[in-house]
Amino acid sequence: MDRARSHPSRRRILKGAALAAVPCALLPATRAGARPRFADYPPAEWQPASSSNYTASSRPTSYSVDRVIVHVTQETYASTLAIFQNPREKVSAHYVVRSADGHVAQCVREADVAWHAGNWDYNTHSIGIEHEGWVDRPAYFTDALYERSAQLTAAICDRYGIPKDRAHIIGHAEVPGTDHTDPGPNWDWVRYIRLVNFA
Ligand SMILES: [Zn+2]
Repeated sequence: MDRARSHPSRRRILKGAALAAVPCALLPATRAGARPRFADYPPAEWQPASSSNYTASSRPTSYSVDRVIVHVTQETYASTLAIFQNPREKVSAHYVVRSADGHVAQCVREADVAWHAGNWDYNTHSIGIEHEGWVDRPAYFTDALYERSAQLTAAICDRYGIPKDRAHIIGHAEVPGTDHTDPGPNWDWVRYIRLVNFA
């Protein structure tokens, strides 16, 4: 993810400590008055981000959707959802994939512009997928995570006509101007692209 303010590593530690006190079950799955449960990708669970954390839009009419951007959260799955639901965080992604079982949450509609790439042009033209884990802890990149994420990416590519290759399925680290390193050297791109193509 890509929060805009302050020193990222210090902020992450402070935020993680604060969130640890909040049991995940107490976080609202849907807010009163929010849109009804909705997901662009039927297997996904709808876990909406705060409307302060993305830009409402009408893609692909407003902007073409040309890329999928792969992220690693550097947070737990539950903390990531909580961050996206916090209107002060100014960060979001369309999807979050859980490490243990590959469960997929959708947090931002694909029509809307999630704030994940740290680059407005890339945000407007992409779908962002967060993967639970840390770049230096490859055990988080489970078979289920790869397989379920690849199915999601394949469905996105099919819907928008995005080629299933490394020019169009990129890592956050490859976004121009970013200082982020995710998904990092432990992410198996050969395996992932193969799975996307055979999903
Ligand atoms: Zn990222």
